[in-house]
Amino acid sequence: MRLLVVGGGGREHALCWTLRRENPDADLFCAPGNPGTAQLATNLSIAVDDLDRLADAADMHGIDLTVVGPEVPLARGLADRLRAEGRAVFGPSAAAARLEASKSFSKEVMAAAGIPTAASRTFEDLAAALAYVDRHDEPLVVKASGLAAGKGAVVCATRAEAAAAVRAMLGERAFGDAGATVVIERFLVGEEISVLAVTDGQDLELLPVSQDHKRLLEGDAGPNTGGMGAYSPVAVATPAVLDRARREVLEPTLEEMRRRRTPFAGVLYAGLMVDVAGTPWVVEFNCRLGDPETQVVLPLVAGGVTDALWSVAHGDGVRPMARREAEASVTTVLASRGYPDHPERGAEIRIPAALPPGVTVFHAGTARGADGVLRASGGRVLNVTAVAPGFAEAQRLSRETAEAIEFEGKVFRRDIGWREARRLGN
Ligand code: AMP
Repeated sequence: MRLLVVGGGGREHALCWTLRRENPDADLFCAPGNPGTAQLATNLSIAVDDLDRLADAADMHGIDLTVVGPEVPLARGLADRLRAEGRAVFGPSAAAARLEASKSFSKEVMAAAGIPTAASRTFEDLAAALAYVDRHDEPLVVKASGLAAGKGAVVCATRAEAAAAVRAMLGERAFGDAGATVVIERFLVGEEISVLAVTDGQDLELLPVSQDHKRLLEGDAGPNTGGMGAYSPVAVATPAVLDRARREVLEPTLEEMRRRRTPFAGVLYAGLMVDVAGTPWVVEFNCRLGDPETQVVLPLVAGGVTDALWSVAHGDGVRPMARREAEASVTTVLASRGYPDHPERGAEIRIPAALPPGVTVFHAGTARGADGVLRASGGRVLNVTAVAPGFAEAQRLSRETAEAIEFEGKVFRRDIGWREARRLGN
């Protein structure tokens, strides 16, 4: 079997780690990959948005299954392109990826399907958007409709802040074309969970539920980031809540996408705000596995990931994946000083030679120079995932290993999973 993973972050390292564990003899490629994937796969130096070269590589290496990690190539039609060339690919079409690539489109789908989500309006005109802000109660959330690397949502405590966010997006194009359309919505109250479903467009299988930590600093302070850590499972995601998420969110979304003749096959990721009544309100949809959620979710799957992806990619339905029951997983992101705005690059990284059992270090923004030295090369540098029989132990192992890894300017949160810790009385 010849497999290709597209992407080069922690999510893709976790994907390669899983595919390699399940298929010790497969020929595994990763484009562009990183020094972590290089230990498991052959890295191909191709950017994730270079569709021509990715299609050529799939052809040249006779790839049987391509798994696409990031949203950008999906939104640009990589899955359509590979399928048109007769290759199996796990990931939605560009038309279906609009569930993530256009927040105004996803709001339209949700409205049509009667899915619980914050009331919202979409604007392209600055004056109209400002007038709307003026008429509505604070807090408000202002979002760039297009892809903004997870940083396009601004939670605004006051109308003045909301007006400033609207001006930045529509007036000054702070997010470029991604902010040429903005969605303004009501602020939702509750606890956020990430529900990832592997789907062929009709049926779905849930992956373990996780919770991300978007803010840079401990106590959920500081700016929004791509994610500073995650854990799984999450106690608020009770069977009753997940049943509602399935029936009230995931299934109606898939049905509406089929009705529009753009069925969604791949991972449908629902960011849900669960309120005190257990209602799952959609904060956002993503069209792919989450990062860093993948780094906690995949290590909790005992087997069957390759089969599930293979089956969906070949149009053979969705297969269940075996779950590691009674285990918990925590990942801590190590970022560079200056992240998310101006991350420093180049610091030399030292990872202890012996890691505790259950701990895996996934690479994200790392690079190995000609001198063989591992260095920080991006905002989020490493993810330290620990799997243990209980949450508290997984949290401790992840944090202690994060502390033991050294590089100049290392930034990380020691409180990943603090809500779960509080619930469990730790
Ligand atoms: P998004 O890019 O839509 O996922 O938003 C990024 C983050 O902003 C989310 O993970 C939430 O924590 C927060 N957020 C977005 N929309 C809302 C909302 N309507 N109410 C409360 N928080 C929100």
